[in-house]
Amino acid sequence: MPVKLAVIKESRPGEHRVAIVPEVAAKLAKAGIDVVVQSGAGAAARFPDEAYVEAGASVTPDEVATLEGAHFVAHVQPLTVAEVGLLPAGVSVMSFLQPLASTDVVEALAARGATAFSLDLLPRISRAQSMDALSSQATVAGYRAGLSAAEHLAKFFPMFMTAAGTVPPAKVLVMGAGVAGLQAIATARRLGAVVRAYDVRAAAKEEVQSLGATFVELDLETQDGAGGYAKEQSAEYLAKQQELLAAEVAAADVVITTAQIPGRKAPVLVTEAMVRGMSEGAVIIDMAADSGGNCELSVAGEDLVVDGVTVVGLTNPPSSMPTHASFLYSRNIANFLGLVVTEGALVPDFDDEIVAGTCVVRAGTVVHGPTAEALGVQVPAPAPGPAPGGGGSEDADDEQGES
Ligand code: NAD
Repeated sequence: MPVKLAVIKESRPGEHRVAIVPEVAAKLAKAGIDVVVQSGAGAAARFPDEAYVEAGASVTPDEVATLEGAHFVAHVQPLTVAEVGLLPAGVSVMSFLQPLASTDVVEALAARGATAFSLDLLPRISRAQSMDALSSQATVAGYRAGLSAAEHLAKFFPMFMTAAGTVPPAKVLVMGAGVAGLQAIATARRLGAVVRAYDVRAAAKEEVQSLGATFVELDLETQDGAGGYAKEQSAEYLAKQQELLAAEVAAADVVITTAQIPGRKAPVLVTEAMVRGMSEGAVIIDMAADSGGNCELSVAGEDLVVDGVTVVGLTNPPSSMPTHASFLYSRNIANFLGLVVTEGALVPDFDDEIVAGTCVVRAGTVVHGPTAEALGVQVPAPAPGPAPGGGGSEDADDEQGES
């Protein structure tokens, strides 16, 4: 029996992406995977049902029909508890699960005996780069932030020399120069702005400069953590940083903030006083609004105007460019499937760093330590055992009931 991959419509408000696009569905079909898509699942990302049919996928009328007999469900947002209730026994699910923020969904998945993989836990090692959905979606988000800044600013980004006079270029400050920040820098530069950028990690300097922006150096020690991420900074450090950045912020027409610490609330880089110190018409695009905000005043999903300064709390920016965000996301999923599907059977190797790192629930057991702790359940000691699977051999099917 071939692996059946189900794609149901995203039901969380504001989500326009789809986990598998027709082009990727065609590749998966060629690899022997049966792709089944709920009618309308790709519509908001501009992929009509007919495109899936042409790609060799089946289109089904509703969630129930789509999920029937599925071995693997690909989704962008965490499934809702109600959707988990429709999952067939022994199924595997992959999405951005954000398990610590979705403990109710994790509990439901465990109760259902499912296996759940969370792309936000993917180890950032070179072998996993083609599956790195955090990076692919951060690329879209950074681009979106650059465009959003240009849209909100009542000035040009590029310099204009006209017969009527010369217009100076916009001054953009990007705070946080990781994947999203670098893309925001590149976008603002393409639009002609003069860009300055700052990050606590020392490695960011060269990357910022390679994009033609100026790196802002502060008289503060760098904060490089493990795996290319920043360390969480102390309150004193952040206070000093705010003090040193105040003049940079005041001089900018646009501030784009992207600073994040994995698993923690985003650090506050721009205080209310700093906002009030900016010029009339200045714009702040807070890309960290969904995780608490880098600007003290930002509200996720809202544009506020404070003393003439527009503070935009961007929420789920990749969803506002759903076609290419979905394309990249579904390539990430397909690359993960390439790792866990062998000879037509879904047989994840739970000793593999990527599989183990992303797994939150394994055949009904919560195996992600911090989530298990949050739920007050024990993480089982690692033991060799058969992987829960789907498709392929009888053996693989038998193993689905493992718990
Ligand atoms: P992220 O989204 O966790 O954070 C965004 C940025 O905010 C980071 O650059 C971080 O240093 C910065 N930041 C945190 N606190 C800050 C503060 N107080 N002030 C200013 N900046 C602050 O990070 P990310 O963009 O997902 O990744 C960061 C880096 O990880 C990348 O630039 C890259 O070097 C590395 N990475 C490696 C891989 C891989 O596969 N090897 C994949 C993706 C990213």
